[in-house]
Amino acid sequence: MRVVLMGPPGAGKGTQAERLVEKFGMTHLSSGDIFRAEKSSGSELGEKLAEIMARGELVPDDIVVEMMAKAITAVDGGLLLDGFPRTVAQAQSLDKTLDEAGSPLDAVVMITADDEAIVERITGRRSCPSTGKIYHVKYMAPKVEGICDETGEKLVQRDDDKEEVVRERLKNYKMQTEPVVAYYRDAGKVQVIEVNGMQTPDEVAAETVAALEAQGR
Ligand code: ADP
Ligand code: ADP
Repeated sequence: MRVVLMGPPGAGKGTQAERLVEKFGMTHLSSGDIFRAEKSSGSELGEKLAEIMARGELVPDDIVVEMMAKAITAVDGGLLLDGFPRTVAQAQSLDKTLDEAGSPLDAVVMITADDEAIVERITGRRSCPSTGKIYHVKYMAPKVEGICDETGEKLVQRDDDKEEVVRERLKNYKMQTEPVVAYYRDAGKVQVIEVNGMQTPDEVAAETVAALEAQGR
């Protein structure tokens, strides 16, 4: 199964990706994680990405498309794309990459969430520095405050998860990424499944899994 997971920043894409991978066993590719890994490598490209991401802006399409096409073509089998595509140009490029590989998308899952919930979710987000496991100080708190349940490491906060940057990311989402949903709906080649993200993570997961299973039949 090849699925694109969309939704505003903080809607719960990463959280749901963990659950979908467990359920369906596909490979999870998060563009944000790929860019953060490049950032940590200290390369020149990584430094450029860091500046763009810190401002809450989108990374230019040519860079995104090249890095994602490389990652996607290395995957054999099921695929869960998270955070990509985020512009219509990226969606067109993804279509081309998948058409060439003879493996089109099966579904686009769109997780919705209210603006105020988004700000609260993102400012309370923490993650494990080595595994990337996602927590929330209130909604998905670790057993011991500030410590990863699985690795015992100190949880970290992303430097772009500040309120002013979140508002900028949300603005860019509305301007540049919402049209991608319209692109998929208009093209009519793939089913767009809208899931209400304003439920508990388990409820969101159950709704998503049921819709994907129904779609696969
Ligand atoms: P979130 O979904 O919480 O906004 P991500 O980890 O997906 O966070 O993205 C973090 C940042 O990485 C974005 O604000 C943007 O700067 C950059 N980024 C990630 N994916 C893309 C993409 N497909 N196109 C352009 N920029 C991207
Ligand atoms: P995204 O990848 O879309 O940016 P995340 O999955 O990282 O979003 O979730 C953002 C924050 O909100 C995290 O701290 C996560 O623990 C929390 N979160 C995710 N889903 C829910 C939910 N359904 N209800 C409450 N908090 C949630």
